[in-house]
Amino acid sequence: MSTYVFGHTTPDSDSIVGAISLSYLKNKLGEDTIPSRQGDINPETAFILDKFGYEAPVLKTSYAEESVYLIDFMESSQSPDDIAEATILGIVDHHKLGDLKTNGPLEMWVRPVGCSNTIVKQMFDYFDIEIPKELAGMMLCAILSDTVIFKSPTCTKEDTKACKELADIAEIEDYKALGMEMFIVKSDVLSATKRELVLRDFKDFNMGGEKIGVGQLEVVDLSVFDTMKDELFAQMQILKEEGDRHTILLLLTDIMLEGSQLLVISNEVDKIESAFEITLEESQVWLPKVMSRKKQIIPFLETQF
Ligand code: MG
Ligand code: MG
Ligand code: MG
Repeated sequence: MSTYVFGHTTPDSDSIVGAISLSYLKNKLGEDTIPSRQGDINPETAFILDKFGYEAPVLKTSYAEESVYLIDFMESSQSPDDIAEATILGIVDHHKLGDLKTNGPLEMWVRPVGCSNTIVKQMFDYFDIEIPKELAGMMLCAILSDTVIFKSPTCTKEDTKACKELADIAEIEDYKALGMEMFIVKSDVLSATKRELVLRDFKDFNMGGEKIGVGQLEVVDLSVFDTMKDELFAQMQILKEEGDRHTILLLLTDIMLEGSQLLVISNEVDKIESAFEITLEESQVWLPKVMSRKKQIIPFLETQF
């Protein structure tokens, strides 16, 4: 039996870097943990790992009989299938309270901040453990990614403070420029298949017994999608049927314009329209100021379903 630290399915930079940073901290505190991941590394995360010289955590999708720390999620729909057979020792997260259950007491570090790595930074401070320079750089990137370089409404003062301190440790002066460099990497959507794009940052939620999938792509210029909308819709339709989902939403977020184009495939389109008080045209609508799935999309769907 081993102890693994991992983030959600279709992992993002916060989940991957968080597995590495939390595992490092736990090991410094005398535990013996291994960072792992539930899925492929996305291009943004590959850029971060490469830049700071880290290996990707091990790919592992089954955790029966293992002990685990979860980071960046606490929903069964984003967990390994056999999570109920694992022992959850702790959760570090910044999302809504999920539906996971444990058999014993656990450690929980859950705070309404913009990124799990902000909480891990606070844990390092709490335990008075030094963060290695390169790890600090990766944690900085994870926070810049999750908060969309502080533009997301999920961003708090604690996130900006953590970034400043991590940038000092990493000796990175212009960290907003680093954030832009990262988002330009993230904006390269032309080398991926349309299916990969829909699934690149995709989360399933169970809402009132219905499976709702919500994907998001954050780019510096939305016009990259102009010629591929039909194909994206086609893939959304396929994924809806394959996964027996009620609804698939795809948020195409323009981080410069600070808003999102919402693409909708649903069994009950009227429910989606009333959730956001919108009228869809050709199954889509522009949502000004909407950048956060967690704060500006999911709560309205939860209310509706
Ligand atoms: Mg995440
Ligand atoms: Mg996160
Ligand atoms: Mg995100």
